[in-house]
Amino acid sequence: MLDPGFLKQLLLIVTDDGLRTSDAQRHAYASDAYTLEKAPPGAIVLPNSTEQVAAIVKLCLVHGVPIVPRGAGTGLAGGAMARENMVLLCLSRMNRIRKVDIPNRRVHAEAGVVNTTLTKAVAPHGFLYAPDPSSQGASTVGGNLANNAGGPHTLKYGVTANHILGATIVLPSGDIVNLDASQPGLDILGIICGSEGTIAIVTEVVVKIVRAPEAIRTLLAVCPSVAVATKIISSIIAAGIIPAALEMIDQTILRVVEESYHLGLPTDAGAVLLIEMDGPEAGLDRLTAKVEQLCLDGGVVRVEVASDAATRAKLWTARKKAVGALGRLAPSHATQDGVVPRTKLPEILEKIEEIAAKYNLRIANVFHAGDGNLHPVVLFDERNKDEVKRVLAAGGDILRACVDAGGTLTGEHGIGLEKQEFMGLVFTPEDLDLQKRIRNVFNPSGLLNPGKLFPVHNTCCPHMDRPDNAELQLLARGKGSV
Ligand SMILES: Cc1cc2nc3c(=O)[nH]c(=O)nc-3n(C[C@H](O)[C@H](O)[C@H](O)COP(=O)(O)OP(=O)(O)OC[C@H]3O[C@@H](n4cnc5c(N)ncnc54)[C@H](O)[C@@H]3O)c2cc1C
Repeated sequence: MLDPGFLKQLLLIVTDDGLRTSDAQRHAYASDAYTLEKAPPGAIVLPNSTEQVAAIVKLCLVHGVPIVPRGAGTGLAGGAMARENMVLLCLSRMNRIRKVDIPNRRVHAEAGVVNTTLTKAVAPHGFLYAPDPSSQGASTVGGNLANNAGGPHTLKYGVTANHILGATIVLPSGDIVNLDASQPGLDILGIICGSEGTIAIVTEVVVKIVRAPEAIRTLLAVCPSVAVATKIISSIIAAGIIPAALEMIDQTILRVVEESYHLGLPTDAGAVLLIEMDGPEAGLDRLTAKVEQLCLDGGVVRVEVASDAATRAKLWTARKKAVGALGRLAPSHATQDGVVPRTKLPEILEKIEEIAAKYNLRIANVFHAGDGNLHPVVLFDERNKDEVKRVLAAGGDILRACVDAGGTLTGEHGIGLEKQEFMGLVFTPEDLDLQKRIRNVFNPSGLLNPGKLFPVHNTCCPHMDRPDNAELQLLARGKGSV
C-alpha cells in the first residue's frame, strides 16, 4: 500500500477531486480491457495539466513509487494495469482541444482527448483524423499514440505514428519536453510511438488531419465460408487495389450483432467482408465494380453496395460494435492480436479452429483482414479457473502459429503484460537488449510502467534474457501476477 505521507503530498498537487484511494475506487481501476488479470492500483491520480503531471512524476521519483500511465483503459494487453504499490496516472481529464489549425491541417490536443472528438472538431471543415481504432468512441489520443493504434482504415491511411506531428511529454525525471517531427535531430517521437507508456508520459499531441474523401463506396461481400472470404482478400490486393478498409466478420459475430442491433445482416453467411473504397468521385465506380467482380469470381453469394450514408453507417455499426455484442454469448472474452502475411490468412484461420477444438473453447473472428491483423476473440467465463488456463494456453498457441506463419505478436494492441514473455519469438537477445537499453536511457529508475513490454520472467524463452532484478523487485512489492 502507498504511504499516507506520500498520498498527502499527492493531494497537494491535484486537490481532493483528483485523487482516488478508496477500495471501491481502486477496484474500479483494477484492469483495462485485458480480461485475464486484475490488480487494484494503490491510488488513482487525475491531473489537469502537463505541469501537474510533471509534479506528480517528480514526487513519485523522490518516494520510489512506480507510475502507470492510463488513457481510457481500453487497452487489450494489460498495458495500463497497475499494482497496489503503484500510482495509476489517468490522463482522462486532460481532454481539451487546444487549437484547430485548418490551413496547416493540424490539431493540437491534450492527451486525454477521445479519438472521435478530433474528427468531430474538424468534420465541419471537410477534414478527418484518419486513425480509427474500433474503440475510437472511448480511447484517447495519448493511449493511441502509446500503443501506436491502428484501425479499419489503417490499410490505406496508416497507423497512429503516421499522423503525429508533435507531442509534449513528461520524462520519468519530471522534465517536460516538446517534440516536433518537422525539426532535425533524433526521432524521439518515433521512439515514443508504440512505447506503451514505458518511456514518457504524453500530455499533449499535435496530429495531422486529412481531407475527408470526396466519395465513398461501402460493400458487403456475403461469403459462403471463411475460406472463400480470406482468398478474396488476397485477390483484391493482388489486383493492385488498396481499399480504404477491408474487414472480415465471421458467422458467430454476425449472428450476435444481428441479435443485438437488428441491422438486417446476412446471418446465414459463413463470413462477410466489409470493403470500403474512397477517393475522388471520378473513377471510383469503375474501381468498385472491379472489386465486386473479384468477389463474384472468388465465389461470394452476393455483394451488397451501401447506397446511402445511413446504410453505410449500419454496416460500420456491425463492425465497430462487434466485440461488445459478444457479451450475449459469454461473460468474458479475450481478444488476441496476431499478424500474418495476408496470403497466410486461410491457413491461420484453420489453425485457430484447431486450437479452439484442442482447448475446448469457442473462438469468434472479426479483424482487419486487409493487413493480415487477426483478432480471434476467445469466449470464456473468468470465474472458471480451468477455463482461464485454457484461454491463456490457446492465446500462446495462436501467437506461436502467427509467428510460425511469418507474422508477429501484435498488429495494434501492443505487448503490455499479456505478451511480454513471447517477445523472444520475434527478437534476438541482442535486439531486446538494445531496446531495453534505449528504454533505460529515458527511464533509468524503471519507475515508469514497470513489468510491461519487455520479458521479465523468461517463462517462454529462458535462453534469451536474464531477469531484470530491479524491475522484478518493483513488481514484487505489489500484489498481482505480473
Ligand atoms: C472494443 C475494442 C476495440 C478495439 N479496437 C482497436 C483497434 O481497432 N485498433 C487498435 O489499435 N486498438 C484497438 N483496441 C485497443 C485499444 O483501444 C487501443 O490500444 C487504444 O489505443 C488504447 O487507448 P486508451 O486511451 O484506452 O489507452 P489505455 O488502455 O489507457 O493505455 C494503453 C497503453 O498506453 C499507455 N498510455 C495511455 N495513455 C498514455 C499517455 N498519455 N502517455 C503515455 N502512455 C500512455 C498505457 O500505460 C498503456 O500501456 C480496441 C479495444 C477495445 C476494447
